[in-house]
Amino acid sequence: MNAVIRTEDLVKRFGHVTALDHLNLEVSQGETHGFLGPNGAGKSTTIRVLLGMLRSDEGRAELFGADPWKHAAELHRRLAYVPGDVALWPGLSGGETIDLLGRLRGGIDKAKRDELLERFDLDPRKKGRSYSKGNRQKVALVAAFAADVDLLLLDEPTSGLDPLMGAVFNECVKEASAQGRTVLLSSHIMSEVEALCDRVSIIRKGVIAESGSLAEMRHFSRSRLRATLKNPVRGLEDHDGVHGLKTDGLDVECDVDTAALDDVLAQLAVAGVAALTCEPPSLEQIFLRFYGDELAASGVTNGEGNGS
Ligand code: ADP
Ligand code: MG
Repeated sequence: MNAVIRTEDLVKRFGHVTALDHLNLEVSQGETHGFLGPNGAGKSTTIRVLLGMLRSDEGRAELFGADPWKHAAELHRRLAYVPGDVALWPGLSGGETIDLLGRLRGGIDKAKRDELLERFDLDPRKKGRSYSKGNRQKVALVAAFAADVDLLLLDEPTSGLDPLMGAVFNECVKEASAQGRTVLLSSHIMSEVEALCDRVSIIRKGVIAESGSLAEMRHFSRSRLRATLKNPVRGLEDHDGVHGLKTDGLDVECDVDTAALDDVLAQLAVAGVAALTCEPPSLEQIFLRFYGDELAASGVTNGEGNGS
């Protein structure tokens, strides 16, 4: 497979803080890859190294097979970058900024630009200094999605958008992906990543804790099972693959390892099933396996984002 992004044992230190601690990330061509972790995990540092804005201390980083520190100018013609907090040239209008960014990149599709201005409901005539945070974000997003580039590096790009615009953003990512573009989307919003990404890397303290397709990650996780039975079921509590079993009369609720689903369903069938639901684990539940207690109090995984 063709890797558009590859880091190998990437290390970045800021004084005594190790922001990236042997980070290995790989994103193939055409993939929409979720880069998931709470604040301070190292997402932006990784992206800044990939952009050639920061020099790594150890290890390797490659974009399209080239070192971004040495080849930043050429690489930037092939990519568009949207950070979470966009700074604009104060004296240029939004439209001028979008066109300038387009020229710095591989060029811009003008029809696409106009369509995006409509969809994001953005007035391009205002000066950079007078836009709100959300509107600065929209300027950067329109410029990125209209650019003729192979790669989108999006670092928490929806932090200033309201939910309606979040939906427009999701459509734009899907369209970019359908056109064969590669997308790296850093986020701490599970629902966004779950809706858009083929593969996900979970970053924890500068290291990739887990990487794979959502389907693979679900396979190694647990499903939530709820059933109403016709007769009491016996022996579920002794099954290794059954967790957090609760029974209330003929109602049964538990989490089941994927590998144990066959067995458990057979046991339920023996008792007779009146009603059954089985939900695959959400990305949030998978994520909590890695972060658990660290995040319990922070509210970071409520799926809505906190705009921080
Ligand atoms: P994320 O984007 O996942 O929130 P960052 O990459 O911004 O995480 O930060 C990773 C770690 O590196 C944090 O501990 C942060 O405080 C530190 N860090 C990031 N940038 C700098 C910097 N310019 N100077 C010092 N420390 C930094
Ligand atoms: Mg960040």
